Amino acid sequence: MSSSSGDNDLYQVITGHPHDIEELNPHIETVYQKGRLWVVDLKTSAPLAVRKNLRALTGKEKHFLYEGMFISNKGQKAKKVNISHFVSQVSGENIKQDIVELSSYETRFVATPENTLALQQTAARLNSLGYEVREHCYRDEVCSLIAEKKGLSKNNEVLMIMAHIDSVGEAFAGADDNASGMAALLEMARILKDYDNQRTIRFFVTNGEEAGLIGSSHYARSLEEENKIHDIQLALNLDMIGFNSTGVVEIETDPRFEETARLMGDLASRYTSLRTKITLGAWGSDHLPFLQRGVPSLLTIEDWESKNPCYHEECDTVDLINFDYVAEITKLNLSTILYKDQE
Ligand SMILES: [Zn+2]
Repeated sequence: MSSSSGDNDLYQVITGHPHDIEELNPHIETVYQKGRLWVVDLKTSAPLAVRKNLRALTGKEKHFLYEGMFISNKGQKAKKVNISHFVSQVSGENIKQDIVELSSYETRFVATPENTLALQQTAARLNSLGYEVREHCYRDEVCSLIAEKKGLSKNNEVLMIMAHIDSVGEAFAGADDNASGMAALLEMARILKDYDNQRTIRFFVTNGEEAGLIGSSHYARSLEEENKIHDIQLALNLDMIGFNSTGVVEIETDPRFEETARLMGDLASRYTSLRTKITLGAWGSDHLPFLQRGVPSLLTIEDWESKNPCYHEECDTVDLINFDYVAEITKLNLSTILYKDQE
């Protein structure tokens, strides 16, 4: 690699940590932003060290950067039986109850007593639905949750659904970030308990996302060490799916898994009222540690170009949440799991 970068190479910024950005700032020539895709052109003098949080864009990605990428909703691929039956059970009312409940804590900031209480109640809930629940702890008493229903015929193949339960800051318990994703996870757990899954279905309630993807990084690393990371055939991450201004959901992954993102676009057109926007370039949430280990991992998130104005603010409360929109994104994720299980 040449130490000179005056060649108009573009790099995606793949960190969500403000101090990394500060470090990067003096070396940036130009910034381009398209929704969640944040791309920079570096000054020729930029040292190699700053590139640790950057990934060079492919030509195709440069095109997306300028054009955006809305996929045409043709819905040809999704023809599995039974999917509608389960998707039609998604209830905006159930989702609302869970968002209200999870937002009623004083905080869900990682490692606070309220955070622990929210985890315990979630564990009890998943247990009562018949899932086998266990904790994955990364520090004394700071844990994520794993709830599983073994597959009937291919139990070594895992389809995973994840959402982070912790919220940012100690002053509030975010409704959009991320009671919305948690409520969707719980609704999927309720519906899938009655589904005869061939592959193992795993719910991963992550903790410490807002503190730097701690729970998900720790879990992904330990699965890798146990040689089990590639049991996961698909990982879906739901983070901030509650604020709707455009009817668009973003599906974010990296270029290796574009085909799965397009499949989700097809499923969205068949089973939901959503329009989908694919972002190839992932950062800043729990799908990252899995993507980094080659697991097909996709994030669904509200349209980032017009995201919740109360993002990471105390005003991230229930009154800004559109429960029907959360229900539609839940349907999208549920139909993806069902489709993949029947593949
Ligand atoms: Zn979040």
